[in-house]
Amino acid sequence: MTSFNDFGLAEPILRALVEENYTTPTPIQAQTVPIVLTGRDVIGIAQTGTGKTAAFALPILNHLYTKRMRPERKSCRVLVLSPTRELSGQIADSFRAYGRHMKPLAIELAIGGVPINRQIRGLAHGVEVLVATPGRLLDLVHQRAITLNQVEILVLDEADRMLDMGFINDIRKVVAMLRKERQTLFFSATMPGEITKLADSMLTNPERVAVTPQASTVDRIAQRVILTEKSAKNDLLVETLKTETTDRVLVFTRTKHGADKVVRHLQKSGFGAEAIHGNKSQNQRERVLADFRNGKLRILVATDIAARGIDVDGVSHVVNYDLPNIPESYVHRIGRTARAGADGIAISFCDHEEAAFLRDIQRMIRITIPSIDKRTGVRPAQRPADHHQASNRPNRGRFAGNGGGNGSNGGNRNGGGGNRNGGNQGRPSRGSQGNNPAIPRAEASPGEPNSIGTVSFLQRGGNRTPR
Ligand code: AMP
Repeated sequence: MTSFNDFGLAEPILRALVEENYTTPTPIQAQTVPIVLTGRDVIGIAQTGTGKTAAFALPILNHLYTKRMRPERKSCRVLVLSPTRELSGQIADSFRAYGRHMKPLAIELAIGGVPINRQIRGLAHGVEVLVATPGRLLDLVHQRAITLNQVEILVLDEADRMLDMGFINDIRKVVAMLRKERQTLFFSATMPGEITKLADSMLTNPERVAVTPQASTVDRIAQRVILTEKSAKNDLLVETLKTETTDRVLVFTRTKHGADKVVRHLQKSGFGAEAIHGNKSQNQRERVLADFRNGKLRILVATDIAARGIDVDGVSHVVNYDLPNIPESYVHRIGRTARAGADGIAISFCDHEEAAFLRDIQRMIRITIPSIDKRTGVRPAQRPADHHQASNRPNRGRFAGNGGGNGSNGGNRNGGGGNRNGGNQGRPSRGSQGNNPAIPRAEASPGEPNSIGTVSFLQRGGNRTPR
């Protein structure tokens, strides 16, 4: 498929795509849309940033357009379950954008953190599409604001995140309320055993699609690591922000508490910074995000889960204050910069306890990230990068001072034509993590290895050629 016209989508949808400047379907769209149009169940292995929302939204909208009928009161025809409020909001926005020439089309959002009454009112006359987080959806069911027995199409998005966040039982409860004759579209970035089990229990003879990972985004990002002591990270962050020429900076921490602490330190040091994470109210999150988008706020500190699905253009720097213990999260994080064809800079602080994470990340992205050593107390232990293949040894000190932002990777590619996708190959052992008290369990690896290597990320709006 080289053009959206080849899918046979209805004219109002194609018109909206032209207005969105979508010219070419992304790989996940090219594979998924035709299958969904036939009515089959799909299991899609793809991450946010690959265009997967449109991959399910477009054929669903086409179904709603060609099989028009009034939704019954307090019911929905399409139910999309997503793990976070942000992602839910973005999915609903995508349905609105692609369905903007389809009338009537009622799209409702059922997410926690905002008053439920407006959502109850919104559902009273029935809606075509309901995008919901599982907890709030069940609240609405219990309050008899919605019944789910009319759902024709169910989408489960980011199933592996749902598992991480403890939503699996809620999902099973929701699925038990649905009728059996429905179409189910199941998306997950990884397929740990429990997710495969869940998929098996929900899907009927599904077609499997997976995107071929690409490292194009990673290639465009100048990455560097600063080896440091844990206790020096706050000062290092301030120093980095002072020496770098930054536009918008996204700082990642592993925990919510950590995010708040970083914000307090930055504010004390005279930097305008705010945090976005699960303990913030929906209003706070929206305000902070809006400020970050419109440039009022230059530094946003986020956890992985809160940042998931957030699309902000013009992020010049991603700073990993903590390194993620899941290598895919690293790719997700740094993919927030280098959008719209721009080059971006990703700086990661790595303390002694994170050395194993760095090794896992480098193995997955097949780049030895140039590092500089700012540790004061010299440890006899090897530096993290030294564990890597000798031929990939970076040019240490190359990024010393402020000289890192040259858009090149610096690190050597490991073996070029190797199997990037790799299945389980190249997936590092995580043996060390289970014993590391520094890693909160909730953020630990969901389990089985991922079949996805690195992924190309798209950004919202604008004119791009998907990679
Ligand atoms: P998603 O993976 O669904 O979060 O999509 C990531 C970003 O890619 C969103 O900002 C979409 O607006 C954008 N996008 C999706 N499909 C296309 C396409 N075919 N061409 C250009 N941009 C796209």
